[in-house]
Amino acid sequence: MSELERARALVAGADRIVAMTGAGISTESGIPDFRGPNGVWTTNPGAERLASIQAYVADPEVRRRSWQARAAHTAWTAEPNAGHRALVSLERDGRLLAIATQNIDGLHQRAGSDPDLVIELHGTMFDTVCLGCGDRRDMRAALDRVAAGEPDPPCLNCGGILKSATISFGQPLDVEVLRRAREAAVSCDLMLVAGSSLTVQPAAGLVGLAARAGATVVVCNGSETPYDHLAAAILREPLGQVLPALV
Ligand code: ZN
Repeated sequence: MSELERARALVAGADRIVAMTGAGISTESGIPDFRGPNGVWTTNPGAERLASIQAYVADPEVRRRSWQARAAHTAWTAEPNAGHRALVSLERDGRLLAIATQNIDGLHQRAGSDPDLVIELHGTMFDTVCLGCGDRRDMRAALDRVAAGEPDPPCLNCGGILKSATISFGQPLDVEVLRRAREAAVSCDLMLVAGSSLTVQPAAGLVGLAARAGATVVVCNGSETPYDHLAAAILREPLGQVLPALV
């Protein structure tokens, strides 16, 4: 039995699946990952420092560059791929409990996944949040202000610093979001890792949590992960091929 056949049998035998997705599921939609061979931080190590909340708050230049990066983000024009759509199929079979994603690109929802099942561990790039008063608004409105000549638009409510509603290094995850993800992890019978190097905590820890609660783990990722030893099957092929073949 090949590794793919074994993984397919495990997925076929599961009826409470949680998918844990990362940047690797969106690379085939043209969105670069972080730690892959052509990753954002592999090719430009300084960019990782700029992704910290401390640098963002302290340095107006970091914020100006961040607004330019948001406006130019590939997710505005990217389309979901066969990997995203495979998870929609699982949901229509009634076998998907949740998608816990580290991605901020909204492609699961755009592919047709029920937004209520998508747990965005690291937030979303399509909203802004004020670091002062917590005011939350549509990202488009802020980017319109940038285009109209405000390089670092302040909060319209309190004048505070605005940021995308994503989790930067140094910021804790949303407590309620993490609670939902942990609940899903301990409730599933199969944890399907799709395109995550499982190096960022606490998101990666969900895999260990699921395994300890008795779930089977299947890892689909282009490179090794620290949780591969827990996996009953490991697939390294591109997600756009592997996920449709699995479901
Ligand atoms: Zn504010």
